[in-house]
Amino acid sequence: MSKQAISREVEGLVNGMEVSDGAGVRLLRVLTHDLQRRLDPFLMLDEFRSDNPDDYIAGFPDHPHRGFETVTYMLDGRMRHRDSTGQEGLLGPGGVQWMTAGRGLVHSEIPEQQDGLMHGFQLWVNLPAKNKMVDPWYRDIPSAEIPERDTAAGSHLRLIAGCVDSQPAAIQRLDTEPLYLDVHLAGGQSEFFAIPAGHNAFLYVYQGEVQAGSHEQVVGQRQMAILANDGAASGIRVSSLQPARFLLLAGKPLNEPIAQWGPFVMNTRAELEAAADDFRNGRF
Ligand code: FE
Repeated sequence: MSKQAISREVEGLVNGMEVSDGAGVRLLRVLTHDLQRRLDPFLMLDEFRSDNPDDYIAGFPDHPHRGFETVTYMLDGRMRHRDSTGQEGLLGPGGVQWMTAGRGLVHSEIPEQQDGLMHGFQLWVNLPAKNKMVDPWYRDIPSAEIPERDTAAGSHLRLIAGCVDSQPAAIQRLDTEPLYLDVHLAGGQSEFFAIPAGHNAFLYVYQGEVQAGSHEQVVGQRQMAILANDGAASGIRVSSLQPARFLLLAGKPLNEPIAQWGPFVMNTRAELEAAADDFRNGRF
C-alpha cells in the first residue's frame, strides 16, 4: 500500500436505476445491460435494501439461469434458496453464496423473515464460452468463513473473492480472476487497492461517500464509479472524511460476444434459443 503508487481515475459515475424483479422485489440496478461490454466480465449488480416487507417478501420464486455465475452477498436479513439439483441453503447476514449456473438450474431465492431490514447485493459474473455448459456448482460461505483484515490506516476489509497482498479471499476463479472486496473505510484515511492493469474495475458506495483516484472524485452513496483502465496505474486510491462503506470489484475481461435473454447469458443467439428450448422442455 505504497503512497507512491499511481492510481486509476474515475472514468464515469453511474446512478442506480430502481427496478422491480422476481415477484415484485424492489431493487436498485447499478450495473445495467449497457455497461456489460465496458465492465466485462461483470454482467449485473443489484442492491436490495428495504425494511418494508412489501418490497421483498415474495422473493424470487422458481427461475432458471444458464451461462454465468451469481454471487449473493447479504448484509442484513436471511434468504433461503432451493434448486432443481435438490440443494438447499440459508444465507444469513455477512454470508455469501457463489453459484455457477453453468448449463443450468432452476432455483428459488425467498426471504426467510416476515419483517425487518433486508439488505444485500447480487452480482452476475460471466463464464468463458468453454465453461458455459459446465455442471452447476455452488458454495454457501457463512460470514465467519469470509477472510477479513484490518489495514494500517484503520480500514476493515472483507475478502469475498481474489486476494489482497497475498491473503486469499473466500473464492478464487481462474478465468475471470474476480476481486470482490467489501471495504469499511475509516474516516480521514486513504487506502490504495491493487488492481491488475488490464482488469475492468468499479466501486459501489453503499454507505457514506468517498473520494476516488488522484483527482479525488467524490462518489456518493448509491453511486457506482467506473475506474479507468490506465496502463500506468497499479490500483485505485480511495479516501473518505467520514467512515464509509463500498464494494470494490475488478475482473479480467473475457472479450467474447455477450448474448443475453433474461436469465440466460451465452455467446450467440442460437445458444439463447437452445437455452429457452431446454428450459421449456424441462431439461434444466
Ligand atoms: Fe437467481
